[in-house]
Amino acid sequence: MLAGSLVEQYGTCGKTGCRCARGQKHGPLYYLYWKEEGRSRSRYIPREQVSAVRRHIRNYHQFQIALSAVLRRQHRPVPRSPKERSR
Ligand SMILES: [Zn+2]
Repeated sequence: MLAGSLVEQYGTCGKTGCRCARGQKHGPLYYLYWKEEGRSRSRYIPREQVSAVRRHIRNYHQFQIALSAVLRRQHRPVPRSPKERSR
């Protein structure tokens, strides 16, 4: 699971005469952005790992949806189980 978002970026390499200097920027380069202890962090993702990262992010979103469903249920009174009552 990965908590964050995948961002596509285009950039220049700085070499004179390169196509990027004429406006055809290199890319896309992929970066994963996430929040850690309130700070924004990012990490370069090699192109061959992009599909795996996308999958992990999707898993995280599905986990969050499941978690919010659990949290919603918590607002309701919890029925005591028979085991607890006999104590
Ligand atoms: Zn270039």
